[in-house]
Amino acid sequence: MATVLVIRNDVWVEVAETGADKDPVELSRAGNDQVYWHAKEALVVRFANKSPFFTSEFLIPKGGSVGSGPIRPDAEVCRNSHPHPSTDHPGHYKYHIVKPRGPLLADPEIIIRD
Ligand SMILES: [Zn+2]
Repeated sequence: MATVLVIRNDVWVEVAETGADKDPVELSRAGNDQVYWHAKEALVVRFANKSPFFTSEFLIPKGGSVGSGPIRPDAEVCRNSHPHPSTDHPGHYKYHIVKPRGPLLADPEIIIRD
């Protein structure tokens, strides 16, 4: 399974195991946050509908990691306090983690904040 790391001001500050941790990862657009996915096996991160980043698909190399790059300036942000229903909520981005050729392994969520 993939591990999610967030970089804030060039510092690794948050680690979550996708699938194991149901809590979504929150990123700050104004803070130039980026997310990195790391895994022991080759995996694909895919934003099926819309992506808060400049691409919607990221390949995690076996035993390595891939970075999201910056958040798009026009990405929607969530301005609500949580919890709230997250279905189709602005600033909420569901994505899938799959094997390059295989079934869905996890469908976590990223939330973009100002
Ligand atoms: Zn929200």
